[in-house]
Amino acid sequence: MRQKKPARYGVMGGTFNPIHNGHLVTAEEARMQFALDKVIFMPAGKPPHKPDRTGETVLPAEERYLMTVIATASNPHFIVSRLEIDRPGISYTIDTVRSLNKIYAGAQIFFITGADAVWEILTWKDPEKIVDFCTFIAATRPGYSLNKFKKYHLLPNKNNNTALTPKVEFMKIPALAISSTGIRRRIKAGHPIRYLVPESVLNYIYKSGFYHE
Ligand code: ATP
Ligand code: MG
Repeated sequence: MRQKKPARYGVMGGTFNPIHNGHLVTAEEARMQFALDKVIFMPAGKPPHKPDRTGETVLPAEERYLMTVIATASNPHFIVSRLEIDRPGISYTIDTVRSLNKIYAGAQIFFITGADAVWEILTWKDPEKIVDFCTFIAATRPGYSLNKFKKYHLLPNKNNNTALTPKVEFMKIPALAISSTGIRRRIKAGHPIRYLVPESVLNYIYKSGFYHE
């Protein structure tokens, strides 16, 4: 009897404040290039009303979750998880990946990030802890170089000094210089965001009056 291949799940984590076409293209390219069965979008559960690094207030998790659901609804391979937003406090990627390994026992987990975010994960104290649980897919992103991360392609195994199998895969995607920060700025300045976010998300943003001063 032929053995069933393990399922392959991608995880696209982000603040999604708001979700935009850069996120969607990245997830779809990862799905195609790495033959993923599903991509799980994972909005971060940052506490609302708390300023982020730029001093801006992050929209409440429920609103970011809702926009992520709206944006991904038409893609049968995309699902949205409440795992991080239902967990109190800030979630660490390692905890999320551990939980997903329990929920999807036997599946292979791929953590999808842009070239900027992979840096934060791989320069942690113990990156080899997290690579036990998942493979990273680092996508090109305009303005960020992936070259400096190439040395992390093979992470050393501290226990026996051997190199691990590749745990960071690099992925070229059609370049989209879109960011949530840029979108929020454009809204404040009264500039259009049409074609940068799905139309359904655009309508919900304007209807709710998000990101205006
Ligand atoms: P912000 O400007 O608020 O930081 P963002 O556009 O970077 O927002 P995040 O929610 O921070 O969006 O990102 C979630 C993930 O998507 C990260 O891994 C990030 O690197 C990746 N990402 C975001 N935009 C792009 C893009 N245009 N191309 C490739 N990857 C992207
Ligand atoms: Mg970001």
